[in-house]
Amino acid sequence: MAVRISGKEVSEKIRRQLKSEVVNMRSLGIIPGLAVIIVGDDPASKVYVRNKELACQEVGIRSEIHRLPAHITQEQLNHLIGQLNGREDVHGILVQMPLPPHLDELEVINNIHPDKDVDAFHPINVGKIMIGDYRFLPCTPAGIMELIHHTKVEIAGKNCVVIGRSNIVGKPMSMLMLHENATVTICHSKTRDLAKICSRADILIAAVGKAGFVTADMVKPGAIVIDVGMNRDGEGKLCGDVDFPSVEPVAGYITPVPGGVGPMTITMLLKNTVTAAKNL
Ligand code: NAP
Repeated sequence: MAVRISGKEVSEKIRRQLKSEVVNMRSLGIIPGLAVIIVGDDPASKVYVRNKELACQEVGIRSEIHRLPAHITQEQLNHLIGQLNGREDVHGILVQMPLPPHLDELEVINNIHPDKDVDAFHPINVGKIMIGDYRFLPCTPAGIMELIHHTKVEIAGKNCVVIGRSNIVGKPMSMLMLHENATVTICHSKTRDLAKICSRADILIAAVGKAGFVTADMVKPGAIVIDVGMNRDGEGKLCGDVDFPSVEPVAGYITPVPGGVGPMTITMLLKNTVTAAKNL
């Protein structure tokens, strides 16, 4: 039976460390500040932003939420980002995605100063990840690395399979595993023999967005299985991409949903904000 990797526990440990770092920084007159922009009334986005606000409070980061109406223009949004870029008390800027369709997400990301881009979505930060010279890592992949390190299993030389090639999860995840000397295979919707490829993985990372996608026959006995998925099952309950009941007896380590990757993502945002405040 797999050991469950508790993202909640790992996340609490990192938050305690961050909290004491922030106490030290505050004693030196540095108060890490995060500005979050939310456009429109998307209920899920509102919950995410509220959770970020609470997490900031927990570790002593000053947060400010800019709630903008859905009909705001690109120019108005760009103007606000420009103002936040120029403010010394704002160390991190995050624009909650998705944005209403008339707004250009790429333009928004490009407008955030790379030194304040705590999501690490700016092309400069993406390029830095590629060459292994980075300050910020995108929050979800960074959180997953913490979870894998927590198992103490050596990554170098292992076969790692990442299912999914999105810019925010799959691609950076693959790059981080490569930097740690894993042999990485990236799978996507056009991959042939997916189950066979997955079944050779020592570390399997599922970032697909389909409930129950990874089944026991796709998992090598003893493998580390990381479930990034956040889906709703037929009853509306949160579930991952991994068919947990069938995979748990086969895997060596497994992350649950909820309580696995999810809590790590916000914690890594806090860490990036503290890093940004240290460096400005
Ligand atoms: P995404 O942009 O939709 O990407 C999904 C990836 O899965 C794509 O690369 C797609 O391939 C691939 N895929 C879809 N169907 C497939 C199939 N049948 N076989 C193989 N590959 C397939 O999603 P994302 O943003 O990376 O997110 C993935 C999941 O993680 C979602 O459930 C999301 O909610 C969750 N998530 C969780 C967190 C967290 O903090 N826990 C953070 C971010 C995302 P193609 O490229 O070929 O289309």
